[in-house]
Amino acid sequence: MKLKTFQRGIHPAYHKELSNNSAVERAAIPKTVVIPLRQHIGAPCEPLVKRSDIVEEGQKIGDVQSFVTAPVHSSVAGKVKSVDMLPFPGGGKVQAVVIETAEDYVPKDWEAEGPIVDVDALTPEEIRYTVRSAGIIGMGGAAFPTSVKISPPKGAVVDTLLINGCECEPYLSSDHRQMVENADKLVLGIKALMQAVGAKNPLIGIEDNKMDAVKAVREAAKRLLPELKIVELETKYPQGAEKMLIKAALDRTVPIGKLPFEVGVVVNNVGTAVSIYEALAFKKPLIERIVTVSGNGIKTPKNLMVRIGTTFEALIEECGGLKTDHKEMVVINGGPMMGITQPRLDVPAVKGTSGITCLTADTVKPADYFGCIRCASCVDACPMRLMPLKLGDMGRLSITEEFNNFNGMSCMECGCCSFVCPSKRPLVQWIRLAKIKLRDEERAKHA
Ligand code: SF4
Ligand code: SF4
Repeated sequence: MKLKTFQRGIHPAYHKELSNNSAVERAAIPKTVVIPLRQHIGAPCEPLVKRSDIVEEGQKIGDVQSFVTAPVHSSVAGKVKSVDMLPFPGGGKVQAVVIETAEDYVPKDWEAEGPIVDVDALTPEEIRYTVRSAGIIGMGGAAFPTSVKISPPKGAVVDTLLINGCECEPYLSSDHRQMVENADKLVLGIKALMQAVGAKNPLIGIEDNKMDAVKAVREAAKRLLPELKIVELETKYPQGAEKMLIKAALDRTVPIGKLPFEVGVVVNNVGTAVSIYEALAFKKPLIERIVTVSGNGIKTPKNLMVRIGTTFEALIEECGGLKTDHKEMVVINGGPMMGITQPRLDVPAVKGTSGITCLTADTVKPADYFGCIRCASCVDACPMRLMPLKLGDMGRLSITEEFNNFNGMSCMECGCCSFVCPSKRPLVQWIRLAKIKLRDEERAKHA
């Protein structure tokens, strides 16, 4: 049977076998956590604590009056050491709260008493309020505040809730393990999301390299949500991108510049759905997540349950360390296709950190690039139906107006074009430059 998928895209080597059968282990509680006040798209939080304050596990330590934002919470109990500008794994520096874990700290068991709230009885407003209060954001990497995502604009009709179980980035397996190990919570989270957005048609898209996840979710759905449809998809990158998943699973096309609401869909990631259930049923804020630490440069690849704010360094140590010195390695926040290379390892794992990929330098050695031979391979691979060869040149030459006319801003930086280019042209890097320049020009116009 031919499985559903979207058009174009690529089939990179996935290397999932390094970690996808490793059950999630709890990482050690760090002596210090570094909790950035901006881990999401939208307004950064303002600190609610100061140096020397004593904080509890789960206490809100940052928030701001804004619709597009998400508060942050302490992931341990301890004492605030500082509030400072510190390196962020997404690049640059952001304000962060550094907390020293108390010596007598015993982690709280949020689920000890079982569900303390009847989730089925909650109204959409109550669900959105709790999701915001718990600081939940898209955990597949997009980091968009979930309370906003589940607030359909006035007049929008959402008929379908689509859950993203693709995890198409090479090496990563945190969503895979989430589906295998937490299928009941996932399905209950889906049920709550349906209540929130009023969708009658729940679907989950899972790629066919995760058949144990398909089985686990199917069994949980049979008991808890029989109407949940499980759509097996052909394994292909970048199927986890929202627009690609909607096309693959539902054959609906989200117009350029529009959101999934436009075609009656709300998309959420599997990890997000689990966190939503934990927030609603156990009043647990988003203070921990599963992080895959993998790649040919790490001694023992693992899936770890990690307190937000634990440094990459500590998590790498937890996996036996790097095979060689960091200088001879590439350590990436996320996967190799869309992740960000880290020059230092004292950065914290944040809510959007699905993985840390450690690759030996020879695997990712930057190659010399050559002239374009007009083979159109990049055009054939681009899932957004763009002209990467032209956009790349426009970025390289800073021709921003034309870049905009060619819909360059709708490039999702998936890297498919660079991946297939026989001349090794760094197309996505050039496109990123053009996007940064265009945004700067826009800002200057409105300054
Ligand atoms: S142009 Fe953008 S969307 Fe298209 S393949 Fe390249 S990176 Fe992906
Ligand atoms: S894949 Fe590379 S060589 Fe081929 S058309 Fe695109 S940019 Fe040119």
